[in-house]
Amino acid sequence: MRTDAPPLIRRWYTGSPVEICSTPERGRFLVAARDFEEGETVLLSAPYACSVTEPEKRRVCSRCLRICSAPATEYNLCCSDCGEVWYCTRECLQQDAPLHRFECSLLKAFLREADWAVTENRTEVRLILRLLARRALERIEVEQSRIPDPLVRDRSFRDFLALNAHRERLSEAVIQMFDEVAVYLKQLDPWLAGEETSLIVETFLRARINGCSLWTTRAEIGQGVYLEASLLNHSCQPSLCQYRPEGSATLHFLAIEAIAKGEELSVCYFDAGDLNRRREYLRENYFFECQCRRCREEEQGSAADYLAWRGRVGCPKPGCAGILLYGTPGAEKVRVCSECGNSLDEI
Ligand SMILES: [Zn+2]
Ligand SMILES: [Zn+2]
Ligand SMILES: [Zn+2]
Ligand SMILES: [Zn+2]
Repeated sequence: MRTDAPPLIRRWYTGSPVEICSTPERGRFLVAARDFEEGETVLLSAPYACSVTEPEKRRVCSRCLRICSAPATEYNLCCSDCGEVWYCTRECLQQDAPLHRFECSLLKAFLREADWAVTENRTEVRLILRLLARRALERIEVEQSRIPDPLVRDRSFRDFLALNAHRERLSEAVIQMFDEVAVYLKQLDPWLAGEETSLIVETFLRARINGCSLWTTRAEIGQGVYLEASLLNHSCQPSLCQYRPEGSATLHFLAIEAIAKGEELSVCYFDAGDLNRRREYLRENYFFECQCRRCREEEQGSAADYLAWRGRVGCPKPGCAGILLYGTPGAEKVRVCSECGNSLDEI
C-alpha cells in the first residue's frame, strides 16, 4: 500500500533506509525510503533491550545471545555478584558491565521472591530490569558525556516510551500487580528509589505488549524489545520476512518481493486458515480487525491479487501452504519454504 501521509518523524535507525510515518488514525508505521529488490535486506533491528529465559540462562550469552556450547567456560563467565547472568566471552562480560551494574542487586533480590519464582515471570522480570537499567545508564552517559552503548546507538528510552502501551488490552488486576511490583522494586536499590512508580509501570506495560520471544528451532532462548520492528504492522500478504541469525540478537527483515519507495512495510504475525479464522485470531491476540489487501479482497469474494502473489512467492510443492522466504542464516539469497523447509532447488 502506497501511503500519501507525510512522514511526521523522519529518522534513520541503524542505517536502514526506512522512514517512520504517522497518521492520527493508524499511529506510527514504517515505509520504504527507497526501492528494494526482491530478497534485499530492508531493515536490521537490534534489540533496545533483551533478556535470556530462565531455563537457558547458563547457556545463552546475556549480551549477544550467542549459545555457548562449552559448559566449562560458561561458568567462568557468570557475574559473581548475582550469579544470574552468563556471558560467552570476557569481552561480552566487560561490555555489559556498565548496564548490568544497575540490575545486578535487583536480580539477586527480586528473583528470590516467591510470587515471581515461576519461570515465565522470571524472563519478563529480567527484560523489565534491563529496560530500567538502560534508562539509568543513558542518564549517566548524558551527565558524564560518555560514549553511548554501541548496542543501542542513537536510540533512547524516550523512543521506548513512544511505543504504544495499549493499557486497554490488560486487565485492571494485571495493572494493579504491576503497580505493586513497581513500589516493591523501588525499595530494593537506591538508584531506582528516585524513579516515579508510574514510569516503572509504563515500562512494564510496554515490555508486556512489545516484548517479543526469541526462539531457536528447539527452545525459547530470550525476549527482546525491538523499537523499529515494533512499528511493523501485520499483513496477511506481507512485504517482509524475518529471520534472526544464530548467535545474534539482531532481527533481519528481507523483501519477499520488490518493494517500491513509499510503500508500507509489513510482516505476517499469523497466517493460517480463511478470512474469519485469521481475523478472529488477530482480534483476540493482537486486538485489531485485519484490513490488509488480502483480507479486503477475500471480503469482496475475490482473491485475484493474493493468488497472483502466492503464485510468485508460494511453495510449488503440491499440498504445501508455505511461502518461499529468503534468509536462511548465512545464505540470504537462498529461497526456503516457510512450511516444508525445502529450498527452491530441492522442490
Ligand atoms: Zn556474548
Ligand atoms: Zn550480577
Ligand atoms: Zn489480513
Ligand atoms: Zn513447502
